[in-house]
Amino acid sequence: MTASSFVLRTAVALALAATLAAPVHAATPPVGDAPYPGTIVLNVDATDLAQQIFRVKMTMPVQAGPLTLLYPQWLPGNHGPSGPLTQLAGLKLSAGGKPVVWTRDPVNVFAFHMDIPAGVTTLDAEYQYLSPLDGAQGRITMTDDILGVQWASMTLYPAGYNSRRITVQPNLVLPAGWNFGTALETDQRVGATVKFKPLDLDTLVDSPLFAGRYFKRIDLNPGARVPVMLNIVADSPEQLEAKPEQITLHRAMVQQAIKLFGSQHYQHYDFLFAISDEFGGIGREHHQSSENGVKPGYFTEWAKGEGGRDLLPHEYTHSWNGKFRRPAGQDVPNLNTPLQNRLLWVYEGQTQYWGGVLAARSGLVSPDYARDALAATAARYDNTRGRTWRAMQDTVNDPIINGRRPLGWGNWQRAEDYYSEGSLIWLDVDTRIRELSNERRSLDNFAKDFYSINDGSFTPAHYTFEDVVAALNKVQQYDWASFLLTRVEDIAPKAPLDGLTRAGWKLVYTDTPGGASKYADERTKSTDFSYSLGFAVKADGGVANVQWDGIAFQAGLAANSNIVAVNNRAYTPEVLKAAVKEAKGGTAPITLLVKKGKVFRTIALDYHDGLRYPHLERIPGTKDRLDTILRAVK
Ligand SMILES: [Zn+2]
Repeated sequence: MTASSFVLRTAVALALAATLAAPVHAATPPVGDAPYPGTIVLNVDATDLAQQIFRVKMTMPVQAGPLTLLYPQWLPGNHGPSGPLTQLAGLKLSAGGKPVVWTRDPVNVFAFHMDIPAGVTTLDAEYQYLSPLDGAQGRITMTDDILGVQWASMTLYPAGYNSRRITVQPNLVLPAGWNFGTALETDQRVGATVKFKPLDLDTLVDSPLFAGRYFKRIDLNPGARVPVMLNIVADSPEQLEAKPEQITLHRAMVQQAIKLFGSQHYQHYDFLFAISDEFGGIGREHHQSSENGVKPGYFTEWAKGEGGRDLLPHEYTHSWNGKFRRPAGQDVPNLNTPLQNRLLWVYEGQTQYWGGVLAARSGLVSPDYARDALAATAARYDNTRGRTWRAMQDTVNDPIINGRRPLGWGNWQRAEDYYSEGSLIWLDVDTRIRELSNERRSLDNFAKDFYSINDGSFTPAHYTFEDVVAALNKVQQYDWASFLLTRVEDIAPKAPLDGLTRAGWKLVYTDTPGGASKYADERTKSTDFSYSLGFAVKADGGVANVQWDGIAFQAGLAANSNIVAVNNRAYTPEVLKAAVKEAKGGTAPITLLVKKGKVFRTIALDYHDGLRYPHLERIPGTKDRLDTILRAVK
């Protein structure tokens, strides 16, 4: 656009604005301390299963003058500004039956400004939350058999107030005959309409609800003062059928967690658990509940599912780490204030560690599987070429930078490595405490000291890096600050595998995939050659995860290619595996016919080391600390 046309267009725009008399507003008000006067009533109709539309009516007490409503942007547990604003539609505001005009803030698109006319005391808002119809549009939260209510997605709230000081009374209309699980307290249920007790907005958005046509509730803490419930919804009734021995393992997980953390920071805890092909997969922590979504077969194809069984212990651990004890920068005054991610390697990294440990201690996974999973993690980070330019600490920014979109060169870009590389660092800490204390103390002592304060309280207790270091020093004197900072903040081409060594195990590669490798292949519907040829490949030949600087990378392969043939034979995963085996110890290269767009190319992979999959192997003559860590606590 030229300068002169800009002036002309601006003049036209100003004239148009004047004729429409669009209101002029001050900026969004800063968050104050006063309570919001009155109670906001939020009515959600969740009965339109055919079109997956949540219809919302909200009434809120207001005063005359300028008002800004916010749609939640920074949702706790999302680690990024991911409020699903695209799915909010049909916003109409009125007062006493007359329309109230809203304008969107030109800078902050999550803010809606309006003027409340004199004499008006109640504002009515009507809008829809449109569940994505396809996974590519976002997280599907309504199907014909299951629905999830994330209150943050359904709510507008007044700017200028701390979200703990805004009172909301939610009501929900469910499809007839459905049941639900939630941490919310029900006031009354009449037929399909549920009236919940009023509560603060912060706790409301932290208390989602799963409802289903097929529903089962299992008590995971029977006879205890503080209930822990598994609320299961599924695509079909047979998916709900947990066998007694499976329930026993989940109960053991709850017991192991309570023993580890020595406290419970909830009045009752509700696992919301969806087993579905259609409802969006999820693992999201809340203080008194968690949202968990897995594929069908969790109970019915038990033998195949070990890899998914650290999900519930991971999300449960968050009740202590992430929700009750929370990095100071993760507790902000309202849902549109940026969260600070610096300590996510504690919040998520240590939770990832305890999730795996609790899965093993409870028997949800076998020690064999737990070791395979650790081998897979160790191999992944040992082969992450992006380590040479980017510190693990910097990956805490990825939920903001990338929002979990797929990556073309993930091995080079790095992505949210604070989870699993974080867990390797906590294994390092755990084994170091064990070694220094002559096996008398461990990270279990840290967990009990750190998370058991104020038993029964669910007011967040903040932590800083210095608090973590001080708590470690209380368990075992050491220079923990340097120990952690070196591993977290330094550019480190080698993965932090000292913990593995100190646990008595080393990372090796063999030609047979372990349990975790097999599970990952099944889950991603691909065959992994990451540690041999340097990529993974789908059944249709689609290339994924090309390892930066690996054999295939050097031959010019990129992830948006398809392998058509291997050594002049039509590609199947088996043909490629056979070619890798055949080339072992020889000199002839493996040739791939590759299609990228409209271009076919032949590439030669000069690779002769055979198939390679990660495993752990005992270091002879050392103490098996891993065995101790993974064993149930009496
Ligand atoms: Zn987590």
